[in-house]
Amino acid sequence: MESIYNKTLNELETYFLEKKDKKYRATQVFEWLYQKKVSSFTQMSNLKKEVIEELNQDFCIETMTVEKVEKDIDVSKYLFRLKDNEKIEAVLMNHHYGNSLCISTQVGCNMGCKFCESGRLKKVRNLETSELVEQILQIEHLCQTRISHVVVMGIGEPFDNYDHLVKFIEIINHPKGLALGSRHITVSTCGIIPKIKEFMTLPYQVNLAISLHAPNNEIRNSIMPINKVYNINELIKTLKEYVDKTNRRVTFEYILLKGINDREQDAIELANLVRDLTCYINLIPYNETNNLQFKRSDYESITKFYDILKKNKINATIRREFGSKISAACGQLRSKKED
Ligand code: SAH
Repeated sequence: MESIYNKTLNELETYFLEKKDKKYRATQVFEWLYQKKVSSFTQMSNLKKEVIEELNQDFCIETMTVEKVEKDIDVSKYLFRLKDNEKIEAVLMNHHYGNSLCISTQVGCNMGCKFCESGRLKKVRNLETSELVEQILQIEHLCQTRISHVVVMGIGEPFDNYDHLVKFIEIINHPKGLALGSRHITVSTCGIIPKIKEFMTLPYQVNLAISLHAPNNEIRNSIMPINKVYNINELIKTLKEYVDKTNRRVTFEYILLKGINDREQDAIELANLVRDLTCYINLIPYNETNNLQFKRSDYESITKFYDILKKNKINATIRREFGSKISAACGQLRSKKED
């Protein structure tokens, strides 16, 4: 049975109109689900008995369960079991400005980035819209807290699950839904150009992050297979269009890998690559894993790299690290469990 969390407000309105009921019924249901956050139709006390009965026949609400929680000081990792027994993870980070949740979009991932643990497990399937929504709602419920920021940077490539992603954004951004401000939502992609083009035509002002990780095609080809399909020059060209169209800046993620992309010449090349783009570079110290050969750059190279970018007037920060103790760091989700 389908979860009601799959439905946008528009879709629910259509559902009720087809039932010869009133359109506003959809708003009532939405408020119960996303503002009062109930998890059964019987709690929706302003609905008639017959409506509740029909909803119960047509939809379920929750489809997954929290199987395991690992906590560190200001970060916790949640392992979910899905209805088909697949597993995914989400990571909650407590910042001074609120709680940020990093969610997964697929079971596994097909992008095959060489440095990433998640890519070792091929994609089994896309997550449904409801499974994206539920990661937020279940963790809010469990922690009795409000999640103020969502980053779509967990397992999977969000633009390889585009339609569900867009419905998810619609639901969590809608004032009658979770009402999360679009500037509090960030989607991260390895660079699927046709989807970036589609994304920039949406009415939402959601943040876009790009996993760049290299200053040129040669290095990027060697660590990110997607670059052989959508190369770095096309990517930068598309991002210029994105900035022109949306007036928003782009965030680049750049993992520093020892001896691969962390040399002075790489920093200079990177600065030249993004010079004309309104952007911001997030330098990420690599999280080493036992299964992959890549090494983290040493502190000196990281600061030198940062200084070169700054000298070239490029906005950059070195990312604060979360969760390396509990393997909650990027690219380390789920795979440990499957070993
Ligand atoms: N597929 C999307 C989102 C998931 S990956 C994307 O590529 O953006 C989220 C981020 O974590 C990416 O920037 C990815 O390159 C990075 N990442 C993967 N493994 C990592 C590791 N071991 N250490 C640090 N960052 C990592």
